Amino acid sequence: MELINENLIGGILRKTKRVEKGLLDEILFKASEGKGLDLTDVAALLTVREPEQRESIYKIAWQVKQEIYGSRMVFFAPLYLSNYCVNSCEYCGFSIKNLELIPKTLSRDEAVEEAMVLAEKGQKRLLLVSSENQQVTPDYIAGIMEGIYKKTGIKRLNVNMAPLSVEGFKTLKEAGIGTYQVFQETYHRTTYELLHQKGPKKDYQWRITSHERAFRAGIEDLGFGVLFGLYDYRFEVLALLQHIRIFEEIFGVGPHTISVPRWRPAPGIRMQEAPCSLDDDTFATIIAVLRLAVPYTGIILSTRERPELRDKLFNLGVSQISAGSSTSPGGYKEKGAGQGQFLIDDSRTMEEIVTELCHNGFMPSFCTACYRRERTGPDFMALAKKGAIKNMCQANAIITFKEYLLDFALPETQRLGEGFLVGEINRIPDGFLKKEVMERLYRLNEGCRDLYF
Ligand code: SAM
Repeated sequence: MELINENLIGGILRKTKRVEKGLLDEILFKASEGKGLDLTDVAALLTVREPEQRESIYKIAWQVKQEIYGSRMVFFAPLYLSNYCVNSCEYCGFSIKNLELIPKTLSRDEAVEEAMVLAEKGQKRLLLVSSENQQVTPDYIAGIMEGIYKKTGIKRLNVNMAPLSVEGFKTLKEAGIGTYQVFQETYHRTTYELLHQKGPKKDYQWRITSHERAFRAGIEDLGFGVLFGLYDYRFEVLALLQHIRIFEEIFGVGPHTISVPRWRPAPGIRMQEAPCSLDDDTFATIIAVLRLAVPYTGIILSTRERPELRDKLFNLGVSQISAGSSTSPGGYKEKGAGQGQFLIDDSRTMEEIVTELCHNGFMPSFCTACYRRERTGPDFMALAKKGAIKNMCQANAIITFKEYLLDFALPETQRLGEGFLVGEINRIPDGFLKKEVMERLYRLNEGCRDLYF
């Protein structure tokens, strides 16, 4: 069965006219209730071009994000395990066609060393990323996860790797995976087939059904996404939402996260520019519209975007960000090691971004509590949908940020952060929770670590 109904999407796009003020207000009112939007509403929002109309979408996206998650922004870093790939994705620096690439797959010890470098900077949550090859098996990943959990301060390991069988996903589940993340790249089948001509990734159906297998294996936190720039963004957004709605209907759970990677140049590949490139305003509108369409989801923004734009996009509903990233295996321990997957555009350190966030009123968070408290899948979603995750997120953000300030921050950042925390603590609405937070902050000062709700 085709999961994506291309004819239906095509029909909606053909029938959707430029949205007028009356309809825009109506859709935004509906969106402000935080219950999501249907495909026709989304198609209408994506027709917006006037700056004023875009701003009205951004405003509601911000409000909805604040309602559900508050001002917290969760940090993570990608840890690339291998760049050797048997696939021929035309857009990717790891493509088998890239003859300039020097293949590298980290050993378990090398991966643990990379994680240590990141843990020493204060990261608590990593995304293990890998290309696809015979060495990168579920056991290989599970071994690395075991090593990192045992030997470093990292508390949550998410994974972005090629789709597995249910058995393979069970191995990751047993090893303590947080989120399994996989992007369809493009939902448009003809474009998909054109861009993936060799290797297991050419199987569109195997990829689009991977969340389903992961869920059946017990992984409830799932990450979805599209690589923007490969095909018409309007089609991609509607298809992504169609995929999500079908998943919700069958499994009663939506995406834990949605990622919004946008294509970036990579050394050694033929693709010089994105076949369907999109400008920054359109990209910003997509992010805001996704926040309105799937209010409870975490939206992830990577370092593919440049600093000024990232700072702007943080205001549109983004809730998780990477910082200080490298996209080459071994690139943290040895700067410039191996080839990266694509060129990064935001090379600020985590500390710099932390500072920027505080100045802009965002609460940096290093929280990894939910899956350790078994708030995953449907349980997490039920809390998020009611807006009840916000207080927990904010409290955990305060505690984990305090720990970051104590253990990792420079004195200047400490001063800024401590001042910022005072304001955030005062804003906790519930007296009992406030008391509990204060008690944990006291224990952190006394030397206790890894406290959370
Ligand atoms: N092997 C895994 C898979 O099958 O999904 C991981 C692929 S890759 C290491 C992770 C993601 O990077 C891809 O899913 C794709 O969306 C994104 N990506 C690939 N090439 C890119 C480029 N040139 N610019 C930006 N993102 C890219």
